Amino acid sequence: MAQKITMNHRFQCRCGALNGLLSQPHQALRGVCYCKDCRAYAHHLGAASGTHDCLGGAEFVAAQAQHVSFISGIEQLACLSLTEKGLLRWYASCCNTPICNTARHWKVPYVGLIGACLKTDPVAFERSFPRVQMRVNTGSAKQAPPSMRLSTVVSLAGFIPRVMLSSISGAYRKTPFFDQGRGAPVVAVTALSEADRASAYGAA
Ligand SMILES: [Zn+2]
Ligand SMILES: [Zn+2]
Repeated sequence: MAQKITMNHRFQCRCGALNGLLSQPHQALRGVCYCKDCRAYAHHLGAASGTHDCLGGAEFVAAQAQHVSFISGIEQLACLSLTEKGLLRWYASCCNTPICNTARHWKVPYVGLIGACLKTDPVAFERSFPRVQMRVNTGSAKQAPPSMRLSTVVSLAGFIPRVMLSSISGAYRKTPFFDQGRGAPVVAVTALSEADRASAYGAA
């Protein structure tokens, strides 16, 4: 049987305490998000210079939760959300490195891994994710970024059905972010206080 051989892609926090693997990197989508929420989050963690470019965009890789696993340091994993209903934003509490975003509910098994934690080895990053396939929330960029509407639509058209399929098949249950029984996040989620939110968005 012909089998596509792919390397797992390693990700880690800045200090290296927390690290893990993304399997099937060829199924993931590399993108850039220009939204203000991502900037506010990075500012809150004091990590904006490492995650965002001068246009206010942050590279990310969209993947399925079942392909993400942790090797070590999972006890450093912490989670916050900008609002009570916002995305779950997972980070390494040892050095405040943003790791990934997930939906609040495990049946939407999408994971947006933050580019910075995937780029410890920049050559491996380019090999695993050779091109930017989508740019999202470009309306919130600080200046107009290169346009790529069509390729974004085409990329998502391949990716979203895979996420939906794993939601239907029950593969969503294979996730390091939610417990297997009730589907609750594996760590307590902290929503930002109004004051912290105001200061994070003020800086973004
Ligand atoms: Zn760390
Ligand atoms: Zn964003």
